[in-house]
Amino acid sequence: MMSKQTEPFRNLRRRSVEERRGSLDEVYSFDREESDATGGQSSLLEIADLMVETAVGSNPLPIGLATNFRIDGLTYNIPMATEEPSVVAAATFAARIVGGSGGFRTYTSEPVMKAQIFLEEASAAAEEILTDRRDEIGSRVDRILSSLKDRGGGFRGLQTRRLARTGVLRVHLLIDVRDAMGANILDTAAEGLRGYLEELTGGRALMSILTNAAYERKTGAAFSLPLERLAHGYRTPLEPTEVARRIVLASEIASEDEERAVTHNKGIMNGISALALATGNDTRALEAASHAWASHGGRYRSLSRYEVREGILEANLELPLAFASVGGAVGFHPATRYCLRILGHPDAKRLARIAAALGLAQNFAALLALVTEGIQRGHMRYHAARVAYAAGARGREIRRVAEALSATGDFSRKKAQSILLSLRDSEESGDKPEAQGIGADQ
Ligand code: NAD
Repeated sequence: MMSKQTEPFRNLRRRSVEERRGSLDEVYSFDREESDATGGQSSLLEIADLMVETAVGSNPLPIGLATNFRIDGLTYNIPMATEEPSVVAAATFAARIVGGSGGFRTYTSEPVMKAQIFLEEASAAAEEILTDRRDEIGSRVDRILSSLKDRGGGFRGLQTRRLARTGVLRVHLLIDVRDAMGANILDTAAEGLRGYLEELTGGRALMSILTNAAYERKTGAAFSLPLERLAHGYRTPLEPTEVARRIVLASEIASEDEERAVTHNKGIMNGISALALATGNDTRALEAASHAWASHGGRYRSLSRYEVREGILEANLELPLAFASVGGAVGFHPATRYCLRILGHPDAKRLARIAAALGLAQNFAALLALVTEGIQRGHMRYHAARVAYAAGARGREIRRVAEALSATGDFSRKKAQSILLSLRDSEESGDKPEAQGIGADQ
């Protein structure tokens, strides 16, 4: 068994992506759906092969469209790549409520990122020397990044700090990366400057790389919702003032209780990461930065805030968002071009602002559901559809079996199979399938 498993993986890197897939198929005997879903068209395989090492396929996540977002007076339909059911519907739902009251207001800073260079054994005067040579350091950075400089970006500042415990000198190069995320740009600049900084400080460079913290590159979103709009379209017997009170309390709890805050912020990232994935942005960088920012005050807390002022629910979100509209996979993979086109080809700052609004929408929808009817009802609807599919339902059967499962409250595959059989039987005989609960009201 071992040799059969090992052989197809030998020298995998040197073979073509089609050959790799053929070899894997010999071992795993993929079914047609599995093969089609990861292989699809050979052009996509070629792209996958250009994007990562030892590519054997691509992973086509669903792209859903969160519709009719009013952001800074403009309307957006936002593509979201996600595997999680109900995320897209929740965003659209929040956009509808918020859109009726002016929509989202957003802001963002200039796209400044930081490269870090760590110098061991730098002289005692190193910090002073570097500060004196700031302009020369800046010119060198701009020469290395000349095309970025031509685009209006480039060197923006220098920071130095002796790290207390290790005594290592940390040098920050602040660089405006314009529409890029900036990782390679910053790493190029930092590596290019290492020798010069060693010369100036008498130190030895240990490592140089950007920091993903991106604290200089923050984006915010806000909305103001008159309380009477709060219950709009929502099934709750609660008065809007009570719903608002509960939302505010829930957000205060997310500031007070770390373990609640993690889930609260995860909900925000449900939106932001889905947009990042749809547009080819680096989800890990965005996630790392947002969670670091959530704990920058010394304690992990919620990224968003809610309060009621003069009968209006005020919501705010601010976080570091290093979104790119060029570079890396953004615009390279055709799926990202599809999504950027739907968004009207935003620049990086606009994309970050859309992301912040989406994150806040996601957060608001989750809080609203949590403090009223709970989130399970919405989730189970999608879960039921997937159980129906796994039980063999196809086409229109899926919805009918899912509805029947929801009506019975039994979401087992066995139940789905039995409903499916009965549906097919009744369709063959021309009977109405009500007896099994199929078609029952949702
Ligand atoms: P990149 O390497 O593709 O560089 C951006 C390119 O876009 C540059 O060549 C630049 O000249 C060009 N460009 C064209 N128009 C531009 C504009 N308007 N503004 C700015 N640049 C413009 O991309 P990057 O942003 O330097 O690096 C991002 C990639 O690096 C991502 O794939 C990321 O995952 C990866 N990465 C991340 C880390 C990390 O986060 N720690 C580390 C290494 C690499």
